[in-house]
Amino acid sequence: MTLRACRDCKRIITGTVCPVCKTSNTTTNFQGVMIIFDATSEIAQNLGITAPGKYAIKV
Ligand SMILES: [Zn+2]
Repeated sequence: MTLRACRDCKRIITGTVCPVCKTSNTTTNFQGVMIIFDATSEIAQNLGITAPGKYAIKV
């Protein structure tokens, strides 16, 4: 199973279409994975993340 990252929201996904953005604008060429538990944290807000989950650091 290949992990992919959505280029729009940086979410790590397992399919080819981002379930949040409904886009196939995804890539396997991403660097780093971070897990956001608290979408209200400063890190999440800096990255524009609005929901907890796994995200790529660099897409
Ligand atoms: Zn997305």
